[in-house]
Amino acid sequence: MSINLEAEAAVASGFVEKAPLERYVDPDRPSLVGKSRAELAAALGELGVPPAQRKMRVQQLWHWLYVRGVTSFDAMTSLSKELRAELENSFTADRPEVVAEQVSADGTRKWLLRLPGERPDERPHEVECVYIPETGRGTLCVSSQVGCTLTCTFCHTGTQRLVRNLTAGEIVGQIMVARDRLGDWPGGRAPEGAVVPTDGGRFVTNIVMMGMGEPLYNFEAVRDALLVVADNEGIAISKRKITVSTSGVVPNIKRTGEEIGVMLAVSLHAVRNDLRNELVPLNRKYPIEALLDACRNYPGLTNAKRITFEYVMLKGINDSLADAKALVRLLAGIPAKINLIPFNPWPGVRYECSDWETIEKFSEVVFDAGYSAPVRTPRGRDILAACGQLKSATEKLSARERMALRAMALTE
Ligand code: SAH
Ligand code: SF4
Repeated sequence: MSINLEAEAAVASGFVEKAPLERYVDPDRPSLVGKSRAELAAALGELGVPPAQRKMRVQQLWHWLYVRGVTSFDAMTSLSKELRAELENSFTADRPEVVAEQVSADGTRKWLLRLPGERPDERPHEVECVYIPETGRGTLCVSSQVGCTLTCTFCHTGTQRLVRNLTAGEIVGQIMVARDRLGDWPGGRAPEGAVVPTDGGRFVTNIVMMGMGEPLYNFEAVRDALLVVADNEGIAISKRKITVSTSGVVPNIKRTGEEIGVMLAVSLHAVRNDLRNELVPLNRKYPIEALLDACRNYPGLTNAKRITFEYVMLKGINDSLADAKALVRLLAGIPAKINLIPFNPWPGVRYECSDWETIEKFSEVVFDAGYSAPVRTPRGRDILAACGQLKSATEKLSARERMALRAMALTE
């Protein structure tokens, strides 16, 4: 089906998507953060560095940017003074601007980042990025879009109107910001009182593309960014420690395995198409059967490299024992992990989180069928950093709405 016909059929079936604004315009002096080796070579070419020298210069730049994390060309002492000055004239090593940092009682940190919009009078484009420290690891939850074109009914991000795709630089930039703020560069130190892994290793060890946005609807930028992040001469976070979460953009699932080669998480949330159509409206375009087919054929899938199925626990909606049994039947034959996520409520939402007892019973059925079924403990609720609560200030929440959100998150 051509894209237009597909879109028309989707609209006819009642599925509505918001259109993303492609409004990013490079500033006069673009940042080199997030650039691939080929793009750095092209940038050096623009400055007149002869082709024979480019490979070596790219290696040096790569090291300063991604291993050392320096923010100025001046600090790149293995480059000649002239080249440093020329780089300074045309480029920066800037990261997205941090407009707020919040620290939860449990050590979770959330940064609000401001990104350039098209016009100065426009509402700012903002995304959030969340750091979740645990024993032996630190997971960074990264955004792929400002808002999301999709409209999952239980997700707060889905209610945001403004949508823009992030550039690869803005995606890598979130990891750079986190490492800057945590002191996670060679010779760095965590800020006083920060909760970070204490095993002597790095502070950001895992990346999950589970912040704002649908990563597979911004495929190229996410791919280019993650290939920079996984490069073992740079930021060097192994592909096994990077997870892309999708609500089910079937045509890009295979590409994720082939072109990025990272771990896959799928937001399933329902075992029947009628219910999933309601919770995840994208299901009307790519129903459960097509989604699971794409999962079965995910390149590189083995028992050691399983797909994570996310399942948000909604009281009286998808949390019966019959649902649990249907879930294990549905996933039979797919190397899978099941992640049960307690629903995080927000004002105006029509769902509630399942009772703890129900979640435990559900989890037992899944566990007895041979799956590990950890219930994801909500983290950072006091700073609205938990799943589905990431919604940027772009959509001006009133002070009262914010307080209500906080109260709900804390009392849940
Ligand atoms: N768009 C992608 C990735 C971002 S959402 C996706 O949907 O997979 C990350 C995870 O948080 C998804 O599994 C999503 O379904 C879940 N989520 C969204 N809103 C939530 C909420 N209010 N409570 C709990 N989990 C939520
Ligand atoms: Fe978008 Fe994911 Fe939220 Fe659905 S759950 S609206 S795909 S961010």
